[in-house]
Amino acid sequence: MDKLHKFYCTQEWRGLSYNSKIAAGGKCNRCGHIAGKMSELIGHHKIELTEDNVDDPNISLNPENVEVICQQCHNKEHRRFGNKKNVYIVYGSPLSGKTTLVKEIMRQGDIVLDLDAIWQAVTLQEGYNKPNNVRFNVFKLRDELLQQIKTRYGNWYDAYIIGGYPDKYERERLAKSLGAELIYCESTKEECIQRLEDSDKPDRWLEYINDWWDKYNG
Ligand SMILES: [Zn+2]
Ligand SMILES: [Zn+2]
Repeated sequence: MDKLHKFYCTQEWRGLSYNSKIAAGGKCNRCGHIAGKMSELIGHHKIELTEDNVDDPNISLNPENVEVICQQCHNKEHRRFGNKKNVYIVYGSPLSGKTTLVKEIMRQGDIVLDLDAIWQAVTLQEGYNKPNNVRFNVFKLRDELLQQIKTRYGNWYDAYIIGGYPDKYERERLAKSLGAELIYCESTKEECIQRLEDSDKPDRWLEYINDWWDKYNG
């Protein structure tokens, strides 16, 4: 699985997936659903990717093998069996594309723990406005969800935890305590800064990016 996750992090795949979505006119090839955002669509491999064929670009990076479908249709395509609850920690620099990556590899019925999303859920503020006075409520909700993931509480399939986790020691300890697999959302500092410039995020994100790379210890 790790090898497949690595593939989904590559610039090559992300570029191909994005271009396929543009070429499809932002529309699901199966049901015709028109996506409000490109991230609602998924680049699905017609010949399913496996550990054995992922290194073959004629399969993994062949536009002919990529079908653009919505999450609902994708969910029908990959039926889920069994209830082995896998837990993944998706880490990397701010703006390395962690959320985009999770949207590509997750299925309906998985749970996602994303601190930014919890902020938005309880404050109804736009993405990057985080009123400091409610931080303890937000953190407590995160801890509650972490506990549910740790104890495999409920009927979810897999869980994804999205975070920066630049410190190797800290994230390995977390992974161990949760029985989780680590997925590095690979990027360079320059790429992240470039994405910031192309986005509408406030300038203080440059600080977040610099901070992460200062702390990152491999
Ligand atoms: Zn669809
Ligand atoms: Zn698929």
